Amino acid sequence: MALLEVKNLEVKFGLRSGAVTALRDISFTVDRGQRLGIVGESGAGKSVAAFSILNLLSRPGYISSGEINFDGKNLLKMSPDQLRNVRGNRISMIFQDPMMTLNPVLTVGAQMVECLQAHTRVSKEEARKIALEKLKLVQIPSPEKRLDQYPHELSGGMKQRIIIAIALLLNPDIIIADEPTTALDVTIQAEIMDLLLELCKGQNLGLILITHDLGVVSQVTQQMIVMYAGKIIEQGPTKEIINDAQHPYTQGLINALPQQGVPGERLYQIPGAMPPLQRIPKGCAFHPRCAYAQERCEKEQPDFTISGGCRVACHMVEDMIKQANVPASEEK
Ligand code: SF4
Ligand code: MG
Repeated sequence: MALLEVKNLEVKFGLRSGAVTALRDISFTVDRGQRLGIVGESGAGKSVAAFSILNLLSRPGYISSGEINFDGKNLLKMSPDQLRNVRGNRISMIFQDPMMTLNPVLTVGAQMVECLQAHTRVSKEEARKIALEKLKLVQIPSPEKRLDQYPHELSGGMKQRIIIAIALLLNPDIIIADEPTTALDVTIQAEIMDLLLELCKGQNLGLILITHDLGVVSQVTQQMIVMYAGKIIEQGPTKEIINDAQHPYTQGLINALPQQGVPGERLYQIPGAMPPLQRIPKGCAFHPRCAYAQERCEKEQPDFTISGGCRVACHMVEDMIKQANVPASEEK
């Protein structure tokens, strides 16, 4: 059994006008040493998925069905104490905004010591030693000096290294990183991603990386999920999807990558925009933006079709697989 198993997760938002479904039928697993990417445009439900894993959704969001099994136990049935233990010790989260993690009025050392002492029985001196060790692990320049500095005295890249060090403090099994580098300069983004990848490999950590950046996903992860309007539309080995995407939405995301552009020409953009939760189109939610949409796409939601090592939710892919499987003798 995988260390983390998310099974048929469904999340709703209770709005004044009624409950809307924000996530449907999300299933995946992550083990130690495995790196999973979750991609999609903003509004696809990536962050909602990340927050649900630790049951950290804030109102009006709530998990309406499904299971989140960690080490064989359903997180959704745990007592607040058990849940706190998983959140602190076993799974940590790196947020997009460094200030979600860093307290502006405490020094880096003070917050790291506080975090360690909240979850483990260590003296202040021991905690400071562990904090320093983790700062060295994230290759921050002059780690001793950083312990006594306040967050505002540090650059964006250094802040993000400290956040990673804090995420590693209690030796977790899995890290969930939600757009961990979007607030940073491009060169620093690449450095932080390299660091994260190196740490995951070195410490045999599981990683769930939420990002809109397909380039990063292909560099860092082994498995990936593409989300659209709260659903998984393609899921499988990262290499397979990047090299041969089958869902028209994934193909669009790949064609929109800057590397795919022709110099002097405008970059490709998928026409239209992600629909808001309250107005998700019937049938295949992507149909208003899809160049291959048929009548059926406007009415019926596509089920998953297994194709190669992937699952793809698209009527066209389903038809192609069916055709490919017809024995030659039956063909007319
Ligand atoms: Fe396009 Fe239809 Fe496939 Fe949806 S189901 S992606 S509309 S072809
Ligand atoms: Mg987000």
